[in-house]
This record gives sequence, structure tokens and C-alpha cells, in this order.
Amino acid sequence: MILDNQRALVVFSGGQDSTTCLFWAKKHFKEVYALSFVYGQKHAHEVDLAEDIARGAGVHFDRMDVDFIARLGHNALTDSSMAMDETKPAGSPPNTFVPGRNLFFLSIAAVYARERGIRHLVTGVSQTDYSGYPDCRDSFARSLNVTLNLAMDEQFVLHTPLMWLDKCQTWALADELGVLDLVRNHTLTCYNGVVGDGCGHCPACTLRRKGLEAYLQQKAGNTTAHP
Ligand code: ZN
Repeated sequence: MILDNQRALVVFSGGQDSTTCLFWAKKHFKEVYALSFVYGQKHAHEVDLAEDIARGAGVHFDRMDVDFIARLGHNALTDSSMAMDETKPAGSPPNTFVPGRNLFFLSIAAVYARERGIRHLVTGVSQTDYSGYPDCRDSFARSLNVTLNLAMDEQFVLHTPLMWLDKCQTWALADELGVLDLVRNHTLTCYNGVVGDGCGHCPACTLRRKGLEAYLQQKAGNTTAHP
């Protein structure tokens, strides 16, 4: 099958990172598709928010039901009875790690893309602020890209525009793409399900806020230096 270079599929959760990737993809490809996953996450309304963002951005949107992921094991993102780790425990990922999540998401996304003749896949994983999740690392993304190509005898290109960016640089990218306010006010990153600036104290909010403060400070500094 000849896959098309003009279109890209973004694995899209409606959070800060994947929303930034959605607009990155809009800049680089003629036509963009967003695919969100319902995997038994506590804050399933994130998928409705993702749909609003995608429709507002004029990209194709679809959601995929993969609730088997929550039934495979226990973690604090899908199990309401489990309190999440506020800090990363030594020697293991935090209990917000959903084993296999990116493996499943990207594999399903690749099949979905192939059936529509789409070559390019985009994911917002980052090794810089990866919170101890092994499937956010560059080695995983590269290895999976090879595996997907072998599995379907295709030439997919897996893009990871945030791989080497920290949260401050991810905010800078959102600003460069003209969507800083949209990302700040309409995305959901918070583990407690609070949109925008979030609950303020969960690990995801802390990381996001520190990055934003650093970026706004840097921007203010630049403005003062170059009036
Ligand atoms: Zn939070």
C-alpha cells in the first residue's frame, strides 16, 4: 500500500503535550487526524475535551475504545480506589504508569493510519520530563517504529516533536505555534481532572506549572532585553 505523505495521525489525549503536537502536525501536514483512546481512565471526560479541541482546530477526530487496558492491571490512573504517587518511588515507575499504554495506543494508531493510507504518526512523548515512564523514551519510540514497519510491511514515520524538550520548551513551542492560551486554558493534564491550570498540586500540575512559570519568566526577560 502506498501511504501518503500529506497527512498525519496524532495520538491525542487533549493534554498539554498532545495538543501542542496536534498544532505542530497542522503546521507540517496538509491534513491532520486525531485519535483519542478511552482506556478506563478515571477522567474519561478528557476525551470529550480532546474532541472539542480537535474539532475547533479543524482536524478529523475519532475515539477508540480500549477499556481492556484497565482490566489488564492496576494503576492509579484507572483504579479509583488507588491513591496516586505524589513523587516517583526509587527504582520503579510511579503508580500512575499504565503498563503498555503507549505500546497499545501507537500500535492501534498505526493500524488505523494504514487503513486510511496515512504514513505519519505523531505522539507527544518526551524523554526529558518522562516521569519514569519507560514507554516515553526515545529508544522505545524508535524500536516501535521499526516493529510497526515490520509488522505491516510499511514505512511509517513516527514523529516525537517533544522528545528532547522540557516543559518550559514545550510551552515555548505552543507559543510559537500561536496556541499558548488555548493550551493553557483548554487542555487537561491534571491527574485530578481539573482543566487548564489544574488542581495545582498533583505531579502533572507541578511539572506543567514549573514549566509555564519558567517560560513566562524567560519571555518577560526577552521582552525587557529587546524592547
Ligand atoms: Zn493536578
